[in-house]
Amino acid sequence: MTSPRILTNFVAGEHVPPRMGGYLDDVAPATGAVIARVPASTEEDVDTAVAAAKGAFAYPWSHTSSAERADLLDAVAAVIDRRCDELAELESRDTGKPIKLASTVDIPRAAANFRFFAGAVRHDATDAHVMDGVALNYTLRKPLGVAGLVTPWNLPIYLLSWKVAPALAMGNTVVAKPSEMTPLTATALAEIFAEVGAPPGVFNVIHGTGAEAGEAIIGHEDVAAVSFTGGTKTGKRVAAVAAPAFKKLSLELGGKNPTIVFADADIDEAVEGAVRAGFLNQGQVCLCGSRILIEKKVAARFEEAFVARVTAMRVGDPADPATELGALISLAHREKVEGYIALAKEEGGTIAAGGGRPSLPDALAGGAFVEPTVVTGLAPTCRTATEEIFGPVVTLHSFEDEAEALELANGVRYGLCASVWTQNLARAHRVSAALETGMVWVNSWLLRDLRVPFGGMKDSGVGREGGRYSLEFFSESRNVCIKM
Ligand code: NDP
Repeated sequence: MTSPRILTNFVAGEHVPPRMGGYLDDVAPATGAVIARVPASTEEDVDTAVAAAKGAFAYPWSHTSSAERADLLDAVAAVIDRRCDELAELESRDTGKPIKLASTVDIPRAAANFRFFAGAVRHDATDAHVMDGVALNYTLRKPLGVAGLVTPWNLPIYLLSWKVAPALAMGNTVVAKPSEMTPLTATALAEIFAEVGAPPGVFNVIHGTGAEAGEAIIGHEDVAAVSFTGGTKTGKRVAAVAAPAFKKLSLELGGKNPTIVFADADIDEAVEGAVRAGFLNQGQVCLCGSRILIEKKVAARFEEAFVARVTAMRVGDPADPATELGALISLAHREKVEGYIALAKEEGGTIAAGGGRPSLPDALAGGAFVEPTVVTGLAPTCRTATEEIFGPVVTLHSFEDEAEALELANGVRYGLCASVWTQNLARAHRVSAALETGMVWVNSWLLRDLRVPFGGMKDSGVGREGGRYSLEFFSESRNVCIKM
């Protein structure tokens, strides 16, 4: 057995141990083995990292041109591409997600994020407002300073790069805290920044718990902006800490997203789409469609095909390229998910597929596996059908007409996204306009264009990231009015 790797923070261009010397275990969810020791960073580490980021902002980063910053982001993307296989393996071991998903989605997307924001800032333009014969207004976009970025475990480098790239592109420097459960690819990203010659202090990584390291970053007086992705409850806490200091704040939070299948949909395609939306990354994507609403006329047909497809899904070793579902993030999280399966039964639901633990080889006996699970027969207002489970559990419900579909879809506290399946164009427009969500996919799910606004309403968050929305978030607009 190999001994666990000892990870370091990345501060001022150096790989450094935590100042107070504390460490946490990083556990591989598929086996239960400790694969690394993660710095349990404290306020002292955060102070040093923020000071490094502040210094690097003052010089040289805020003096660089957008072309120079874009070149650095492109260089990072090129190394991510070159190290794709290795990074995919790290991500798969750390999260329990299938290697195929990590190598075809997570890592390529991280490279794409850097490349996209390099292009975005190269081609960025600001507004001018002319007051005829009186004055000319034009908008300057100034960087904010130090950006504090806090990210979750489900898509570690994918979401970290989604924030780091636009923050740096606009001339800010960064202190990032990944989830302490998935520190490996953030550590690799630090190595990549060192390799491409990023000025020391421009990109800093502090590992540790949210309550200690995360909160110290968010509350730090020299952190000007906070971009947070995580659960709604944590988001409330983050807002409470950041808001009194008038920091710019972006919150990407949880979801309980509907997949709405109308009778006029291509049912085979809808089944495939709903399976992907329900179970990608073991259902641990904020956008997952965990409530499937089906028009009554086609409910029986849809359910039969859906349950058959889910039952056939391959759960197992994340390292096996044929695996469709790997492990959940931790045994504690599996307990939470299994608690919801038990609750579903108490609430009168029928387990139509899954519901238990898969039988797997001995090497995976300590892993956090759960079968993909389908629950039918629940009231759409019950807890199982309205609370975020963040695991491979979906509930099926039927509706009579469009009005009822909308009532059910909008009847939760979350408002992140929806996926609508219909061949009726007028209905697609009507329903998309009436849904209370930040994003709607029609006849698709998670089809991503990095330019579009990404984010949720209601309890799913505040603000939008993506394309120019990210560039605007990570900068301060200043109007200059020149009298003619
Ligand atoms: P958490 O909210 O538990 O944690 C997210 C991050 O915040 C982690 O790095 C965590 O550290 C940190 N954190 C925890 N407490 C604090 C605090 N008081 N101050 C500052 N930082 C803190 O979410 P999970 O990691 O469990 O991720 C799952 C959640 O994220 C789900 O609800 C999911 O829907 C949501 N999510 C939303 C997305 C979106 O774009 N809308 C995308 C992906 C996920 P630690 O690990 O130590 O707790």
